[in-house]
Amino acid sequence: MQSSKDNGGSSHIRYGHSHYPRVMDVICPYCCKKSALKYIGIPDNVEHFLDIDYQIKDLLFTCDHCLKRKTIDNSNIKNFELFNKIEIRGELIWAWNSNHLDYLIEVLSGNERPSHKWAFFRTYIHKKWFAKTKNDSDIKKLERLRHK
Ligand SMILES: [Zn+2]
Repeated sequence: MQSSKDNGGSSHIRYGHSHYPRVMDVICPYCCKKSALKYIGIPDNVEHFLDIDYQIKDLLFTCDHCLKRKTIDNSNIKNFELFNKIEIRGELIWAWNSNHLDYLIEVLSGNERPSHKWAFFRTYIHKKWFAKTKNDSDIKKLERLRHK
């Protein structure tokens, strides 16, 4: 995860191109609540994108709690901490944002919809995550995180 954020939020490289989540839920550095980093100039209906499809550089940070807003360069993403992460049986499970977390919950609980917007990321789900989330209480932990 850290390496993903260090290279500007690019989560995966496929066919030589970097893939980016449009929105990252992060912990607000000012008030420690849930806030967001969004790539500027990417349409709202796009969940994730390839570097060849959009020129990306800047993101807008917004916090609905303390109302801080600022534009940052994508090299500064590493200074933010992802909001959606939880340790289950020693394994850190994390998601870029709520929609990505929804998808992980679907997959890990065996209720996956193949048409989900995050299905592209299916092959990147760590095998250990399946092994660590075998029962309902583990899934409930993820669901609680989703509604935090
Ligand atoms: Zn804040």
